[in-house]
Amino acid sequence: MRAILTVLGSGTSMGVPTIGCDCAVCTSADPHDRRTRPSIMVQWDGRTVLIDTTPDFREQAIREGIRKIDAVLYTHGHADHILGLDDVRPLSFPRITGGGKIPLFASDGTARVLRSVFRYIFEADYKFGGLAQVELRPLNGPIDLFGATFRPIPVIHGDVPIEGYRFGSAAYLTDFSSVPEESLAQLEGLDILFLDALRHHPHPTHSTVENSLKLVERLKPKRTYFTHISHDLPHQATNAALPENVRLSHDGLKLEFEL
Ligand SMILES: [Zn+2]
Ligand SMILES: [Zn+2]
Repeated sequence: MRAILTVLGSGTSMGVPTIGCDCAVCTSADPHDRRTRPSIMVQWDGRTVLIDTTPDFREQAIREGIRKIDAVLYTHGHADHILGLDDVRPLSFPRITGGGKIPLFASDGTARVLRSVFRYIFEADYKFGGLAQVELRPLNGPIDLFGATFRPIPVIHGDVPIEGYRFGSAAYLTDFSSVPEESLAQLEGLDILFLDALRHHPHPTHSTVENSLKLVERLKPKRTYFTHISHDLPHQATNAALPENVRLSHDGLKLEFEL
C-alpha cells in the first residue's frame, strides 16, 4: 500500500541554527538550513505514526497540520528524541482519539527514561488534570499497526544499542555510530533509507557523511536521505558533492513509498 513519509525534523540534538552560533549555516537564508530536532511521520490509509517526539514536536505538528496520531515509536530515550511527548496532549483527548490512549512503543530502556522524565504523565496520582492520554507498550519485535509492519532494527549509538525501524520499502536509522551485521541483513531491497550523517568529522556516537556513504555502497537503496544533520553541513553545497541518489533531508520533505 502507498504511504507518505514526512520529515518532521532533520537536525542534530541542538537544532540548526544553534543558539548563539553565527556560522554560515546557522545564519543562512536558505530555509533548508533550518533544521528542527530529528523525527519522521508515516501516513497511510488515514493513519499517522510518529517516530520520536522531539522538543520541536509542537512546531512540527503545527507546520504539518497534524490532526491525529495513531501511535508513536521511539528510537531511544535521549532528550532530542523524547522531550516533545507532553505536546501530543491536544491530540490525545477523547474527541480526537475516540477514547483510547495513544500507544507509545518503546524498548525497556527507553520506557524507563520516559517514565522518569514524564513521571507526572505515567503516575496515577497526578491531580492537576490535562494530562497527555498515552500508554507505554513493549517493543519486543515487529509491531503490526493498521495493516503495516514496523520492524525494529538494532543499531549502535556510541556503545548503546538503540532502535532503527524498517517499514515496507523504507527504513529510518537515526543516531548510530555503527550498524551490526545482522541488522544490515534486514536492510536489503530498500527504496528509501534514512541514515544519521552528523557532519564530516568523526564523532563518538554518530555516523558521518563518509561512514554513511559506505553503508549506501553496501546496501544499495534506491534513494538515501541523511538526517540528524549538524551546522557543519550547508544544504546546497553538501548536496552538490553527494552522489545523485543521496541527499540531505530537510524539514518538511515528503516522500511516497510502498509500505
Ligand atoms: Zn539524537
Ligand atoms: Zn541520541
